[in-house]
Amino acid sequence: VLEDIATPKRTNDLLKRHGFVLKKSLGQNFLIDPNILNKIVSAANLDAAKGALEIGPGIGALTQQLAKVAKRVVAVEIDQRLLPLLQETLEGYPHAAVIHGDVLKIDLKKLFDEHFHEVARVSVVANLPYYITTPIIMMLLEQKLPLENIVVMIQKEVAERMAAKPGGKEYGSLSIAVQYYCEPEIVTVVPRTVFIPQPNVDSAVIKLKVRERPPVDVEDESFFFDVVHASFVQRRKTIYNNLASKFFSKETKSELEHILHAAGIEPSRRGETLSIEEYAVLSRHLSQALR
Ligand code: SAM
Repeated sequence: VLEDIATPKRTNDLLKRHGFVLKKSLGQNFLIDPNILNKIVSAANLDAAKGALEIGPGIGALTQQLAKVAKRVVAVEIDQRLLPLLQETLEGYPHAAVIHGDVLKIDLKKLFDEHFHEVARVSVVANLPYYITTPIIMMLLEQKLPLENIVVMIQKEVAERMAAKPGGKEYGSLSIAVQYYCEPEIVTVVPRTVFIPQPNVDSAVIKLKVRERPPVDVEDESFFFDVVHASFVQRRKTIYNNLASKFFSKETKSELEHILHAAGIEPSRRGETLSIEEYAVLSRHLSQALR
């Protein structure tokens, strides 16, 4: 019988036996708590018809648990030194494949075609390397891969920004970008003690349920995100001032007041008070005026 790797003793023994030295620069903090692994896996709603894409399997603690419930697991790991350790921990799970590569560089569409053509739905499930959390999640969403959900362990502050509602200091362009594609839900906050080595930030598991379609009608997505981004460049400034510096000159600035009023938005408001619906209306009015 294969033993789960996720205990402090087994993890340390395996690392020692292979002479493995952890690389901080790759965000290598390995999970050693079966309860947290359970929470992550059950949040993803996997079953024997579904697939899981894992980013950064490390020594396979989460990969093992995914392989127990999913039809197919594909794990992308950048650190070649981990491959022999993974071979050992994933022995007995032939439907779990490890691919050596950088998740930000590999062709995920091709990976999906090759590995997930037989599964009904795919989830991304991972304890992400924290130095590239946001680029990874935005890359997954912008590629519009056929995903059911994304369940990931990330830095707590980032999770709070992704799930934030208008009005608070956590709410910003990241909240709107994530909520345009998904419905976020913080599954649980996680203490530092469940990792080897312990990270120096707090963590949370966030579930992003991927929407079938965006919650608002946006003609030009890239312009919409430009408007959102510009509105938060200087958080303490009004929406009027932020948009004026991005889209208008001194001479044309007066137009902006009319545009904001036509969109139903007080020019003195701050970007953090606008809902995603208001940004959609605003970007439509702005794009018409600037055309
Ligand atoms: N899943 C394991 C666990 O929970 O114990 C390890 C998680 S650890 C936080 C992050 C993993 O991502 C490390 O194994 C690291 O080598 C890997 N990684 C870092 N950057 C990566 C990248 N660009 N592409 C793929 N994997 C990466």
